[in-house]
Amino acid sequence: MTRVANFSAGPSVLPVSVLERAQKELLNYNGTGMSVMEMSHRSQDFQEIMEEAEALLRELLKIPDNFHVLFLQGGASLQFSMVPFNLLTTNHKADYIMTGSWAKKAIAEASKLGDITIITPTNPLTEIPSYNQESFQFDADYVHITTNNTIEGTRFSELPNTGTIPLVADMSSHILSEEIDVNQFGLIYAGAQKNLGPAGVTVVIVREDLTNKAFTSCPTMLNYQTYVKNQSLFNTPPTFAIYIMKMVLEWIKELGGVTVIEQQNKKKAKWLYDTIDQSKLFNNHVHPKNRSIMNIPFTADCEDLNKEFLQKADEKGLKNLKGHRSVGGMRASLYNAMPFEDVKKLTDFIKEFERTYQQVLT
Ligand SMILES: *Cc1c(COP(=O)(O)O)cnc(C)c1O
Repeated sequence: MTRVANFSAGPSVLPVSVLERAQKELLNYNGTGMSVMEMSHRSQDFQEIMEEAEALLRELLKIPDNFHVLFLQGGASLQFSMVPFNLLTTNHKADYIMTGSWAKKAIAEASKLGDITIITPTNPLTEIPSYNQESFQFDADYVHITTNNTIEGTRFSELPNTGTIPLVADMSSHILSEEIDVNQFGLIYAGAQKNLGPAGVTVVIVREDLTNKAFTSCPTMLNYQTYVKNQSLFNTPPTFAIYIMKMVLEWIKELGGVTVIEQQNKKKAKWLYDTIDQSKLFNNHVHPKNRSIMNIPFTADCEDLNKEFLQKADEKGLKNLKGHRSVGGMRASLYNAMPFEDVKKLTDFIKEFERTYQQVLT
């Protein structure tokens, strides 16, 4: 059985060593005679998995002690509601920087609960300007950003300076891909299925003082305080997803941590961007300073050519390269677990496709 080069935007490629270990431990985890899927979330073995996962995440991201780490469900999409339920509660006003499709969805949910000011950077969404304190309402409860825009292929190259207003970030598609200073944020959230593990678990990193501000009408399951008080065990957490995530975090640590992963990611992304920039057929339209190192859209001017490229790539085992329907063309997602060899296969294929195409023309 050969594995394909999987450029899926999410759920996405996982490290083979993690999958193999899960396979090995599937029938009998740690001598318990059962899989992690089958054991109580309150058992000693599972408690250790949870504690280890949190400790690893704290170590890898250097999370300060005044932040809580929560393991939730509902994906990043539920955070679009949980964030305003918990934080839009003092002045009922927040600023959202509209950088793409996911930001738009976050805005739609927050708008149901308060007065949202939308800050729109550019149109089309291929660039993200810098922002300072004057860009925001002085009495906003928070400022929300999407640090990496999975669909548009952009990222914030510098964080907005919000002064004392808490900065809330959706980091679903690039958490642990590069170093960050957690102190610059009030709250960070990320669905796991891009860089952390399988779908089903959502990580929230939240500053202590932001966990007890929820609306009194806030449902228990949507209140961060519920998870803080119960160490994310108020109800049954997604145990198997947390277990796989823990092994992904171990894998990152063994590789040398986020510093090493960041270097690898930048190298992989550069190979692909260089190939696209040197190509006469394909373009990436994102402003160089805001190019994502995780999600790289590229397109030919002609839709037929995109189709042909995708079909031939698929035949070669280069899978899931179709761009999001709102952007078209291609998109290669190069998450942490994407092997160097697979990126090389893609850049070689782009060059080969272009050579063949030029021969046909002449
Ligand atoms: C994938 C993604 C989401 C949605 O995640 P779900 O877990 O499916 O809810 C939200 N924001 C960003 C930036 C994403 O990449």
